[in-house]
Amino acid sequence: MKNKDKLVVLVVEDEPAQLELLTYNLEAAGFLVDTASDGEDALIKVAETPPDLILLDWMLPLVSGIEICRRLKSKSKTRAIPIIMLSARTDEVDLVRGLDMGADDYVGKPYSVVELIARVRSHLRRVRAEAVGGIMAYEDIELNGETHQVSRAGVCIKLGPTEYRLLATLLEKPGRVWSRQRLLDRVWGQDIYVETRTVDVHVGRLRKALCAHGGNDLVRTIRGYGYALGG
Ligand code: CA
Repeated sequence: MKNKDKLVVLVVEDEPAQLELLTYNLEAAGFLVDTASDGEDALIKVAETPPDLILLDWMLPLVSGIEICRRLKSKSKTRAIPIIMLSARTDEVDLVRGLDMGADDYVGKPYSVVELIARVRSHLRRVRAEAVGGIMAYEDIELNGETHQVSRAGVCIKLGPTEYRLLATLLEKPGRVWSRQRLLDRVWGQDIYVETRTVDVHVGRLRKALCAHGGNDLVRTIRGYGYALGG
């Protein structure tokens, strides 16, 4: 039986000492912990009891962490579960690859357990805010998930449905760089074929709308890659 008051974190890690360390600390922090020590086991666990968040090791036997991430993020049923990738591979190419596969965050080993748990909490807060239609904000931009209203410096801003979803995605994590492909997957859905250039068009519209009543352009372009909100 799942204890309804506690959030469930699934830890996928093949090194027993790491698994034990994470389990101990997460339980001490008030989470219920489920564990898997290889990729196949992880996929079965997620199908049986979808967790609230997944800590996923990169290097795993049978099915790699990155492949698990890709599979979970490509299914509408599991897409919303935040995934934090854990890896000893800290170079930037891997980071970008991990985020491209849909990971919500990336923590290099060795990590600080205290910081890792802080990140777990922060991702769970974000997911809950979206689920209950909370307010997301960055600088003077505010998006109300309940009324679907967007304002800047208190002035109401009219957005089309695509621009609204685009802004909601960017607001999930200000400063984070999103590739065009990832934005396409999130905003349009992975089953639909849309040219990546379409993203540029809608980002252009979003920019224009956000600056319609003045204020700096807060959407940042990362040449040849994608976009971020501020940062
Ligand atoms: Ca490993």
